Amino acid sequence: MSRSGGRVGFGYDLHRTRVDRPLVLGGVPIPSSVGLQGHSDADVVLHAICDAMLGAAGMGDIGELFPDTDPQYKDADSRGLFRDVRSRVEAAGWRVENVDVVIHAERPRLTPHKPAIRESLMELLDLPLDCVSVKATTNEGLDAIGRGEAMACSAVALLVPA
Ligand code: MG
Repeated sequence: MSRSGGRVGFGYDLHRTRVDRPLVLGGVPIPSSVGLQGHSDADVVLHAICDAMLGAAGMGDIGELFPDTDPQYKDADSRGLFRDVRSRVEAAGWRVENVDVVIHAERPRLTPHKPAIRESLMELLDLPLDCVSVKATTNEGLDAIGRGEAMACSAVALLVPA
């Protein structure tokens, strides 16, 4: 198959907040009064980027690859899933050129944590600073995210032929 250009993929994930769970975003533990509920560590950032990479490669989604009924993914560190997805995409002949991420969360305020999340993603993707963008926004108090009942993440990833 000839590939002359890149392919863009989009990913989105949302998890409910819970008081008795840690908050992990982009592989970084974030001090917070609430964490996220989920079968794995519920890292919405890594899950959204995984789906963006898989989407760009036309390889399905993480729900298909890592079913939440599978006990081996219970409380799993999503960095393991992320590395697995990255190697599947690379095995298909792609490399990630850049990612751009928006985290949707009312609290905690994420501005002070964005550099650490960015650093973590740079390491997970072997990408330089200008190829990894991490943004955060609140929902202005509206809907479940605005009420602090959930956090979400949207991500795009560009794949280019390796
Ligand atoms: Mg998820």
